[in-house]
Amino acid sequence: EKRNPNEPEFLQAVQEVTEDLIPFISKSHPELLKLKILERLVEPERVISFRVAWLNDKNEVEINRGYRVQMSSSIGPYKGGLRFAPSVNLSILKFLAFEQVFKNSLTGLPIGGGKGGADFNPKGKSDAEIMRFCQSFMTELFRHIGPDTDVPAGDIGVGTREIGYLFGQYKRLQNAFTGVLTGKGSSWGGSYTRPEATGYGLLYFVECIYDFNNQDLKDKIVAISGAGNVAYYAAEKSIQLGATVITLSNSQGTIYDEEGITSEKLAYIGTIGRDLDQYVVKYPNAKYFTDKKPWAFKCDIALPCATQNELTKEDALTLIANGCQCVAEGANMPSTAEAIKVFHDAKISFAPGKAANAGGVAVSGLEMSQNSIRQQWTKEEVDCKLKDIMVNIHKTCVKYGHDKNYINYLKGANIGGFLKVARAMTEQGIV
Ligand code: NDP
Repeated sequence: EKRNPNEPEFLQAVQEVTEDLIPFISKSHPELLKLKILERLVEPERVISFRVAWLNDKNEVEINRGYRVQMSSSIGPYKGGLRFAPSVNLSILKFLAFEQVFKNSLTGLPIGGGKGGADFNPKGKSDAEIMRFCQSFMTELFRHIGPDTDVPAGDIGVGTREIGYLFGQYKRLQNAFTGVLTGKGSSWGGSYTRPEATGYGLLYFVECIYDFNNQDLKDKIVAISGAGNVAYYAAEKSIQLGATVITLSNSQGTIYDEEGITSEKLAYIGTIGRDLDQYVVKYPNAKYFTDKKPWAFKCDIALPCATQNELTKEDALTLIANGCQCVAEGANMPSTAEAIKVFHDAKISFAPGKAANAGGVAVSGLEMSQNSIRQQWTKEEVDCKLKDIMVNIHKTCVKYGHDKNYINYLKGANIGGFLKVARAMTEQGIV
């Protein structure tokens, strides 16, 4: 705490991991204690912070702060998204970069961990403003990244459009067309299924959990938070697997549709942007709440897909009281530490983001492979590889998280993700 003052999210993420790892290392790998692997892992290899000055549409100068946290390159180039949101600060990016190290290791692909972004609010900005901001941001970032060094992707506030502007500027500065960013458009080096990957992968992981208990997702009731990239495709895949999706939300309110959000209704949500209240105008049997989260409603499966710490202890207690059997995180660290304790005490299946939402970065890793061999795999090929990766992550979690009749997925993900990185660090010497 003394070393990282004012970084509550980073400390929360580190504590969540060390609670599982310290007893495990002490018992099974005491040699790693002497090498101070954990102490080294919590110290980023490099943190870059920079000024981003740009002109808004009124020709006024605006200034934001850009960052890249290069956490660990032990098993491959730094890899992790860029987030553009006013709440972005070093604590949030360090927590995300730290989680990313374990997540990327769990995918089985050769990718290290990083995260970056800016305290820039894209909401309400014109297309031209977004482009100028991205160009200014990349004009500094380009000297710190590269296809073999650090390969950023999107995250909150950074989608295909922003990746396009960032890539265009990088290409102009370097005079090279390389796979330096993932999440690119499918006609210029992007991988099919990348937009869908996090949400689809989340559902493949949930399928594994149910399959492990000899059940499937048919007719299960699913509550989802968020209405962005992850939430949308989590809803789409839930519907495809025969489940009933009853909620989606954003920072303004929650849609509750007891009859279920069908594919047709979901497509409509895709057209209304952030105005979710429009849904009840078209579908009057549904309800819209500005004072309720998705966790207030009865469900079998809860999928928090919006943002960090959106699911509190009180929400967790409500979910358990309503009979929820499974919580799988599409977002990064959406459940508070107290909420996770409630899930573990109730012995329901709790899948942490670093395992359950790894599908996005996994397909980003596959995009890097396709760029390296200058080929593009079909949708079916990518989807099949994504499924395999999620099945393998589930296996790893079961292997290291098995505790009598209960699978502690968090412990399994922490240990499974850590071991590969620790081995690489040991073999690469004290750096
Ligand atoms: P988007 O920007 O596409 O969507 C975020 C959604 O969450 C929006 O609907 C937003 O609503 C909502 N939201 C944000 N803050 C709140 C809040 N406080 N309460 C309720 N809703 C809120 O982001 P993504 O879907 O890409 O990312 C969502 C989460 O998933 C993040 O934690 C991200 O780090 C994680 N993730 C994303 C991956 C990806 O591939 N995109 C990969 C792995 C993890 P509004 O528009 O009103 O702000």
